[in-house]
Amino acid sequence: MNPAPPLWRQIQRQNFHRLTDLADFLRLSPDQRARLHHHSAFAFSLPRRIAQKMAKKTLNDPLIRQFVPLIDESIPAADFCPDPVNDLAFRRHAKLLHKYHGRVLILTSSACAMHCRFCFRQNFPYETQNQDFSSELDQIRNDPRMEEVILSGGDPLSLSNESLGKLFFQLAAIPHVKRIRIHSRFPIGIPERIDEGLLSIFAKHPQQVIFVLHINHVAELDSDILHALRHLQQLGIPLLSQSVLLNGVNDDEMTLRILYSALINAGIIPYYLHLLDRVDGSTHFEVSAARGRQLIQDLRNHLPGYAVPRLVQEIAGQPSKTLM
Ligand SMILES: *Cc1c(COP(=O)(O)O)cnc(C)c1O
Ligand code: SF4
Repeated sequence: MNPAPPLWRQIQRQNFHRLTDLADFLRLSPDQRARLHHHSAFAFSLPRRIAQKMAKKTLNDPLIRQFVPLIDESIPAADFCPDPVNDLAFRRHAKLLHKYHGRVLILTSSACAMHCRFCFRQNFPYETQNQDFSSELDQIRNDPRMEEVILSGGDPLSLSNESLGKLFFQLAAIPHVKRIRIHSRFPIGIPERIDEGLLSIFAKHPQQVIFVLHINHVAELDSDILHALRHLQQLGIPLLSQSVLLNGVNDDEMTLRILYSALINAGIIPYYLHLLDRVDGSTHFEVSAARGRQLIQDLRNHLPGYAVPRLVQEIAGQPSKTLM
């Protein structure tokens, strides 16, 4: 008999996958239901924890806007496309992207805890045949410039502890790899993912581990999540957070001030505030660069310097993210 799946997997299986179930749960009116997009190519998937934080009987809620497909997604626009950051041109192997000096990114998984409607990688043709990283690891092993390995996706915490442990073990044997960075949004949906098994992989790992979370609104946080993240901090793992500037979610002064204050109060350092990557179906999320700069100035006027993220955009072909 197979052992029982870990708690976090059991919780993940309770995600909402049917919009009609969520519409019932949120007690939406017929007019509001008519604004839901039932046939989006990017599937709907939402952890219960996040659904429970959503306002009822409305669609004007920062969590609903981020995670619930609306018919606005079907607005076509000339400047929007399937792969706005040109990931495909930088694919060095099935699961390997190399864009920037010294950093290489492994697409560890196609899966995430939740599906963010504005995700720039929502159309990426992930290789999902296997969870074997041997070819990608060979490439990293053979290229001494690769000092930092970023585990991204999808979400690397979608992998089992067994798969992640194996990957970490293999990375530990590559002398020129000095850092492993994890890009994850998983703890926001399912903080139970930060379990004993995961912590023990990090605890004994010889290379520096750095976590970059993705958090856009303070409503995504709660004391269970901060408690789980605290365990990572206790292992000496720096926690950073990146956000996307999103219309109707976080594009006002107070929302950002509250978010970044909450983050620094938890020892999480704001890293990037990204302008939207113009992926098809995301026109309703766009905020201008000028507005972004105004918001950053307001943050500077109110918060410590380390609480103010860098406003950036990814411009395909540039050697780094571009400061705006
Ligand atoms: C954003 C990104 C990185 C990381 O860039 P930093 O500026 O170091 O955070 C690395 N690789 C790819 C492909 C990226 O898109
Ligand atoms: S968690 Fe990240 S990769 Fe996954 S859907 Fe959201 S933005 Fe995309």
